[in-house]
Amino acid sequence: MSGATMVDIDFGGEFEPFFCPFCGHRIINPETIEAGSTPCQHVEFIYVDVAGEFDFVKTQLHPTVEKLMNDPEGDTWGILDSGNLKKMPDDMVIFGLTTSGMACGPVSSTVSVALRLNVGS
Ligand SMILES: [Zn+2]
Repeated sequence: MSGATMVDIDFGGEFEPFFCPFCGHRIINPETIEAGSTPCQHVEFIYVDVAGEFDFVKTQLHPTVEKLMNDPEGDTWGILDSGNLKKMPDDMVIFGLTTSGMACGPVSSTVSVALRLNVGS
């Protein structure tokens, strides 16, 4: 078992549309940098680091993912720790979509989109 795969994508200064690599459904709306109203069936969860919260969590999570998310010993957001990624389902890919720019100093934000290929298993 190798766990989830992390793929980092740096958009630079401007957020771009993000489409599901499995079915082509648009997941992220760049105008709002929020999750699309209806993420496709492959999306397990979407986490926005600047907000420190999940934008979307699938109703029927993979049991392992659910367990890690609800771990009382874990951080509010320890799910992306490398140790936890190894425990994730092998068919999971997490895209870290990063934009950066200047506000009062350099700022960057990352939206993490977790997808699973084998939905319903
Ligand atoms: Zn999809």
